[in-house]
Amino acid sequence: MPDLSTSVSALRAEFDTALGAVTSAADLQAVRDRFLGRKQGLVTALYAEIGNAPADQKREIGRLANELKQAVEAGLEARKAVLGRAAIRTPGLDLTLAPRPLPVGSRHPLNAMRERIERIFVRMGYEILDGPEAEDDWHNFEALNMPADHPARDAQDTLYLEAPFVQGTRATGAPGAGVTLRPATLLRTHTSAMQIRYMERHAPPVRIIAPGRVYRRDNLDLTHTPMFQQVEALVVGEQVTMADLKGTLLGFAREFFDPKTPIMFKPSFFPYTEPSAEVFVGCQSCFGSGCSMCKRTGWIEIGGSGMVHPSVFEAVGIDPERYTGFAFGMGIERLALLAHRVDDIRAFYENDLRFLEQFAS
Ligand SMILES: [Zn+2]
Repeated sequence: MPDLSTSVSALRAEFDTALGAVTSAADLQAVRDRFLGRKQGLVTALYAEIGNAPADQKREIGRLANELKQAVEAGLEARKAVLGRAAIRTPGLDLTLAPRPLPVGSRHPLNAMRERIERIFVRMGYEILDGPEAEDDWHNFEALNMPADHPARDAQDTLYLEAPFVQGTRATGAPGAGVTLRPATLLRTHTSAMQIRYMERHAPPVRIIAPGRVYRRDNLDLTHTPMFQQVEALVVGEQVTMADLKGTLLGFAREFFDPKTPIMFKPSFFPYTEPSAEVFVGCQSCFGSGCSMCKRTGWIEIGGSGMVHPSVFEAVGIDPERYTGFAFGMGIERLALLAHRVDDIRAFYENDLRFLEQFAS
């Protein structure tokens, strides 16, 4: 009669080894069948031996067999739980697959354009200003030589933030009831308001650019959006002349477009400059010979400019007899349309990744 306790220990060791090699549910089932199978199971066979054992040993053998069976069942359950957790943690994990590329963003073409313009002016010694998009009437209009009844206000379809308040009396002789309605706050219609804010606090010399969003009550079409970006420049000092203005714009155009780009001034009118001029650059599509982009003229308008009006200097307490200055403003979207040869301004605001990805850098 072999020592049953020894064979129980051997069986236990055999089970532990088999269980340690299990890596799948199929492995686990095979181990279960091998030890607990109804006909061939090794533990089942142990029970069969109880019947052949001497009467005084049956009780002891039964106890050992029960212990072993419980240990085997517990071991199988524990292994099953571990396999289940692993399956949840790594569903179909295939370490040989190539990694998925991570989507990497890039700067918006209008931001990239704004930074490119800023870099050019910073190299020329300009300071970059940021200012409020909600402005008051004084900075947006009045100090820029556009008093309440100035017709130029109508040309800038203003978006007002608050109901107009009443200023003036019947004695002021304003039209209608003799009362002038003046808006308290508005969304700035141009970045020129920043010129006033800066000159109120700084004595000449002044050399600034103010890039930023401006708002007009415009309908959305190929070339207009109710919100767009401008970059405005202001230079004030002694003996600043129109020649300085033209030289600065020529330098910018040649840096921004092409080293041979010509510029042209066309007399114009703005309330805050005198004289005033619209600024044109040679068409970048046809180089002067005429195409649909420049409407057969060979020139493309990029903005407005002029010498600072003496009334503007007076509004901010700068002596117009001693100081002169120039200012110009350009639309950043317009420059982006020209530089990237895009024909619909709305494309920049629709957030279509297929469009934006073309400008990724
Ligand atoms: Zn052209």
